[in-house]
Amino acid sequence: MRQPYPFSAIVGQEDMKTAFLIAAVDPSVGGILAFGDRGTGKSTAVRALAALLPKIKAVEGCPYNCEPSSPAHLCHACQDEGRKHPKSALRPAPVVDLPLGATEDRVVGALNLERALAHGEKSFQAGLLAQANRGFLYIDEVNLLEDHLVDLLLDVAASGVNVVEREGLSVRHPAQFVLIGSGNPEEGELRPQLLDRFGLAVEVRTPQEVPTRIEVVKRRDSYERDPEAFLEHWASAEKKLRNRIVSARTGLSSVATPDSAVETATRLCLALGSDGLRGELTLIRASRALAALEGKAEVGEAQMRRMAPLALGHRLRRNPLDEQGSAARVQRAVEEVFAA
Ligand SMILES: [Zn+2]
Repeated sequence: MRQPYPFSAIVGQEDMKTAFLIAAVDPSVGGILAFGDRGTGKSTAVRALAALLPKIKAVEGCPYNCEPSSPAHLCHACQDEGRKHPKSALRPAPVVDLPLGATEDRVVGALNLERALAHGEKSFQAGLLAQANRGFLYIDEVNLLEDHLVDLLLDVAASGVNVVEREGLSVRHPAQFVLIGSGNPEEGELRPQLLDRFGLAVEVRTPQEVPTRIEVVKRRDSYERDPEAFLEHWASAEKKLRNRIVSARTGLSSVATPDSAVETATRLCLALGSDGLRGELTLIRASRALAALEGKAEVGEAQMRRMAPLALGHRLRRNPLDEQGSAARVQRAVEEVFAA
């Protein structure tokens, strides 16, 4: 199979790229919603992310990508099978596709009751959530997925554990992943309660400026004509970006979050009338991850201004009297809060 298009070679789409990098640095920002027209490169960007992410160290042969150095989080298989000193190997960080028609069994895993009763053992066929552990789960056209399934996925993503229960039997395994949903709002809306559960939302548009479009076409053309040469050309940019992710992950815990930043986040959310605390928390976490990516020692105004539309834009209640879109409303609130 052909190597995916390099992440660093994606022209424009800054919001989407930033959101992906933020989640790669701090998965606790929550899921990402990328909405916009078809053919704007959302799937290409997800494939590119998969190739960009640093490899992970995982227990050899474990279907859940268990982290060998964290015994408390080992799956039952790794715990039971005496993998006390598990052999580990590097494998690509998982970026798993969830196809729209997938059954619930395929997604969460299937517990085979007959076999369990006959052999007195749990018989569990790991699903897509197991594969996605420590990585990303991608759903194209998430707005066409049934609400209860989206809810379930967001629940699992938030708790980091997948529990499958059937008739008194239960299996639980680690399932820490970032959900990436893409969709075209014209083909079906997500309920506001679901929207609010995504950490960041980005709008992806076809670029309208001539020079940008020319660059998109030129790069795509040269990638398709000679993928190897193209990848070679972008290899050092990819490596640099990968190293940035790695050092941002290491540096994340030492990025300071001044009280003033928390206060700003709170004022912003109040000004925008967003319910609950999810908005504030996400804005803080995303700004901190951005600061880490930029090698900054603390969260500052620049990071908060950058992240506010991505963290808050999808949490606004519709105001039919306000003709401005959500991005403009966030922008206005940002100006007011920082001027105060
Ligand atoms: Zn395991």
